[in-house]
Amino acid sequence: MEGYVHSLESFGSVDGPGVRYVIFLSGCAMRCQFCHNPDTWNMKEGQVTTADELLNKALRYKGYWGNKGGITVSGGEPLLQMDFLTELFRKAKQAGIHTTLDTSANPYTEKEPWHTKWLELMKYTDLVLLDIKQIDEKEHIKLTGHTNRNILAMAQELSDMGKPVWIRHVLVPGGSDKDEYLHRLADFIHTLKNVERVEVLPYHTLGTFKWEKLGIPYPLEGVKPPTQERIDNARKILGAI
Ligand code: SF4
Repeated sequence: MEGYVHSLESFGSVDGPGVRYVIFLSGCAMRCQFCHNPDTWNMKEGQVTTADELLNKALRYKGYWGNKGGITVSGGEPLLQMDFLTELFRKAKQAGIHTTLDTSANPYTEKEPWHTKWLELMKYTDLVLLDIKQIDEKEHIKLTGHTNRNILAMAQELSDMGKPVWIRHVLVPGGSDKDEYLHRLADFIHTLKNVERVEVLPYHTLGTFKWEKLGIPYPLEGVKPPTQERIDNARKILGAI
């Protein structure tokens, strides 16, 4: 089976535990206003590759992974290529590699056949990095163009199955950094039984040049990254690192 790969990172240190080989798959249906990788949105712009080719590339770095490291698949949105991802993770587990999925959960649905495929993928997934971008549904739609209901449903299902999860939250000044939303998000996280870690990711503007290059108006023009005080505030409320 072949998949579309946007890019690769040999020594990732922020997408899961330890040193990781990070595979960014192409394609995303969300349109997050803060997205710093809009160049990943179009699936067909990725490089076509097989799971075996990817694993062989990753295994060259196995010596650096120690006890904690492994591979992380990110994007874009990896769940848009779930069959490919499942094959990759199944083979990775056969090779004794720790597997992490970094997802926005946007494709999640309880409809079949998607849901059964998702359960199959979870058999080979050691850790899920789950982005919850905004707890308020209306604000989530404004921020990403999509509801968050299925995202929260995925979080709930992962909790029910006891799958280890790190929750990640991008802090956008004037939006997701408001105390009301942070407290509501914290309340939701407290209902989950499987959250090993919460990470606050401060909004930054490093990807704006990509929007310009693609000729798409940048929706958060003029929004500055959050102050250290607001970052500390969010971390405190969310119990984040
Ligand atoms: S889910 Fe990720 S890749 Fe997709 S638009 Fe949002 S930030 Fe960008």
